[in-house]
Amino acid sequence: MTRDTSVQAPSAPGASAATLDWLSSPPPGQLIAGAEREGRAAELVTVLDPGTGNQLASVVAASVDDVNDAVHAARSAADDGRWSELDADRREALLHALAQLLERDADLVTELEALDTGKPRVQAAEDVQEAISVLRYFAGWANKHQGAVVPAPRQLHAYTTPEPLGVCAAITPWNYPLPILTYKLAPALATGNTVVAKPSELAPLSVLHLARLAVEAGIPDGVLNVVTGAGSTGAALAGHPLIDKIAFTGSTATGKRVMESATRNVTRVSLELGGKSAHVVFADADLDAAVDAVMAGIWTNAGQVCIAGSRLLVEKSIEEEFLTELTKRTGALTLGHSLADEADLGPLISAAQRDKVLHSVQTASDEGGNVIVGGQTCDRDGFFVEPVIVAGVPATARIAHEEVFGPLLTVTSFGDEQEAVAIANGTSYGLAAGLWTTDVGRAHHVSRRLRAGTVWVNTYGLFHPTLPFGGTGGSGFGRELGSSAIDQYTESKTTVMDISARSRSAKVEVSND
Ligand code: NAD
Repeated sequence: MTRDTSVQAPSAPGASAATLDWLSSPPPGQLIAGAEREGRAAELVTVLDPGTGNQLASVVAASVDDVNDAVHAARSAADDGRWSELDADRREALLHALAQLLERDADLVTELEALDTGKPRVQAAEDVQEAISVLRYFAGWANKHQGAVVPAPRQLHAYTTPEPLGVCAAITPWNYPLPILTYKLAPALATGNTVVAKPSELAPLSVLHLARLAVEAGIPDGVLNVVTGAGSTGAALAGHPLIDKIAFTGSTATGKRVMESATRNVTRVSLELGGKSAHVVFADADLDAAVDAVMAGIWTNAGQVCIAGSRLLVEKSIEEEFLTELTKRTGALTLGHSLADEADLGPLISAAQRDKVLHSVQTASDEGGNVIVGGQTCDRDGFFVEPVIVAGVPATARIAHEEVFGPLLTVTSFGDEQEAVAIANGTSYGLAAGLWTTDVGRAHHVSRRLRAGTVWVNTYGLFHPTLPFGGTGGSGFGRELGSSAIDQYTESKTTVMDISARSRSAKVEVSND
């Protein structure tokens, strides 16, 4: 299989000359032991601009042999100590160098990320800045994570040291390709691990550029390897016996398969999975701010966000007032191509995802919901659906439980705190929740009772490298970001030495022989 070279000058409306240049000769798709090369699978990975449906690039997917080569390259780099035994200061410097190069190329990477995912440029720019911040935050950890002297019995001197795990597989989704990879890559590399990354087949371009930058930064060969391909490539990686940890972000269905692979080889795994997060608005909230946050919580990235606040739970007494304002502001949003300045919302990632959202709109109506705005496709190229609000959705409806991963907001009203918590906790997921109230006591009380990895109070969707992030229940387990992430990539080793008088005299006797 060779690449489709017929697409020499991809059509990407609004793209800069630098981006068009990059797209006319994209990386071949695999980075193994420091060298870029084409994959050897029978399939091509064809990357589309979801805003037009046009092809942006294509790469030959990694075969099982390519995955094996990448894992062996990472294994050698882990075992010979070229990275783990490097001075921690040097690892820190190299991660800072990578962040610096990403900052240098921020405009290019922003356009690639926007074109590849369909999200508006301004959102893609935030993603790139987030990735830079995450790299810098974890660079700082390289020489700060330390062990402890243990207060063991007096005849012993005992201490712990944090050890890298070895080879980490990072398997990521298409919706935030760059930030989500750095959530895994940065703590893994800072603590001395090596990595094989597999970006989503739907949006791999920014990650392929990051791989180039890692080489340019001087990160030793084999420390970061990238393989590109679809589920079979991910499965070959997750099931490889020489992997020490799988860090996975994606759907709950795929997460279960990854966990099965991990079980076969007793591989550590952390899973960041789907969600159906509730955004709970009490009558005493700052309603103007709450409307804005509910909108950002569901329309950002056209609702294709794991933490999308896709279920609005609103106190009955303010339901009408709240929905009137929400509907008015939603109706004023502009759908557009990722690089069009006026775009508030982009398309869905694929035709299949667009069709799934349209089907969900129908399901919501069939289940008694009332579509109060949006829900139609648009008369234009690309995979667009108007943002849709479905009011009056019973808490028991399927649409109130299943992740849609699109611009669809369900609305359910509640009478009191007790009912709000029961509805919010009524799905199998537990990723995030939003809570709007000016009553501080209620904020703490309700937050404590919500089953979610993160509860945002009087804000929504706020991420920072210091804030641990992850889910519970069907949303997975393990925490990324913050100091918790460091613990996910290290294992404590205990060293115990007998320093009693008996052992000292035994040594003297031996040395006198
Ligand atoms: P997906 O599960 O289809 O794919 C995720 C990754 O897994 C891709 O790289 C894919 O190629 C790979 N993959 C597919 N089959 C595999 C297998 N059998 N073994 C190993 N890897 C395999 O998810 P997606 O459509 O790319 O992303 C959307 C999903 O991701 C949503 O459910 C969303 O909620 C979730 N998500 C979660 C978080 C979080 O932090 N919790 C963040 C972003 C997205």
